[in-house]
Amino acid sequence: MTFQNMPGQPHIAYRGNELFSEEIRLSDLAKEHGTPLFVYSKGAMLSALGAYERGFSGRNVQICYAMKANPALGVIQVFAEAGCGFDIVSGGDMDRVLAAGGHADKIIFSGVGKTRAEMRRALAAGIGCFNVESEAELEVLSDVALSMGLRAPVSIRVNPNVDPQTHPYISTGLKGSKFGVAHERVLPTYQRAAQLAGVRVVGIDCHIGSQITQDGPYLDAVDRMLDLVEAIEAVGVPLHHIDFGGGLGINYNGDTPPPADLLWGKLLAKLDARGFGQRQLMIEPGRSLVGNAGVCLTEVLYLKPGAQKNFCIIDAAMNDLPRPAMYQAFHQIMPLKPRADAPDTYDVVGPVCESGDWIGHERDLAVQPGDLLAVLSAGAYCMSMASNYNSRGRAAEILVEGSQVHLIRQRETIADQMHGESLVGRKRAG
Ligand SMILES: *Cc1c(COP(=O)(O)O)cnc(C)c1O
Repeated sequence: MTFQNMPGQPHIAYRGNELFSEEIRLSDLAKEHGTPLFVYSKGAMLSALGAYERGFSGRNVQICYAMKANPALGVIQVFAEAGCGFDIVSGGDMDRVLAAGGHADKIIFSGVGKTRAEMRRALAAGIGCFNVESEAELEVLSDVALSMGLRAPVSIRVNPNVDPQTHPYISTGLKGSKFGVAHERVLPTYQRAAQLAGVRVVGIDCHIGSQITQDGPYLDAVDRMLDLVEAIEAVGVPLHHIDFGGGLGINYNGDTPPPADLLWGKLLAKLDARGFGQRQLMIEPGRSLVGNAGVCLTEVLYLKPGAQKNFCIIDAAMNDLPRPAMYQAFHQIMPLKPRADAPDTYDVVGPVCESGDWIGHERDLAVQPGDLLAVLSAGAYCMSMASNYNSRGRAAEILVEGSQVHLIRQRETIADQMHGESLVGRKRAG
């Protein structure tokens, strides 16, 4: 059988009969570092960032990598060195950015449930902006800032009520969503913010969903956002920046999201037409910067033929790759060294004791136990959602840069997992 190289994944390709990431033969990495193993291409990340930079050339923009997609320090470092800011959703995220060399003033803090302690720490660090998600949060933030003798820079995350036409679990900008301030409450919330002594209004923000593959929802959101900006400024609250969030999709399975530069060409034309083209803009892309830069390498443990189905049991599982179990998501699965044999159809499953532990349904593969596979498009929302379910240690992570290999996270040991636990009435284990 023939294997096509994946469109949208220029840094993953077969050379001869071997799958490579940049200049590195993936089977060599699996041999040296074991499996499951995440491998990220720095070149792929920078080329994804480059598409945004092209789209915004000549504009005032701050690209804030939404680091929940992949918070590895080595990944954050790539974007910090490229000049990005960061969209964080917890105090822990902030610590990671600072540890990886990111600057506090380029951090924006999103999330519906910021605690007072997180607010205090972010204020002390001097972050760039809080994306406030409710009226109640605004009051608390003002109190916390006042108690420190500070004014918190704020942007209100508004819910523009547009349908991103993606999976319901990753839609965030519809009326029934827990995110953002409802459209009809936006104006009063800004008026309240303008009165509060502990906050300073700097912007407006939205984020309508994730894995968006059409430009329509973005075009609608831009119109609704600009309507709001006009209305807010008309009541005397100036806005320094407009933040359009993230959400651009990637190609998992023949998906055809617009390239970032083309999408932003269209959106900026709309901003220009409405007189907002020279505003300070912000965006918060996550998946589209890292998703197709990563693969997860895994070994075939057993083949289990069945009356109804054949199973291909691999050593990666839902704790490493949670997206199929969570959202019925699709990841392409390819052999590191394709065999010439005729393929069989398999459900590719992990060792975890859950029927939801599947990685791919009905895949045609020519495989034998001991073969190595690559689960593609595994750079975003895989390792970041990995768990220790079934006492499985989290995988190691590698960053590939040309012909250089950097181990950016060691494989988690059982001692790491048991750290901090104790037996009742006895000395600590481990
Ligand atoms: C998750 C998230 C993003 C990034 O979304 P992607 O789909 O990964 O681009 C951006 N902003 C906020 C507030 C988020 O929660």
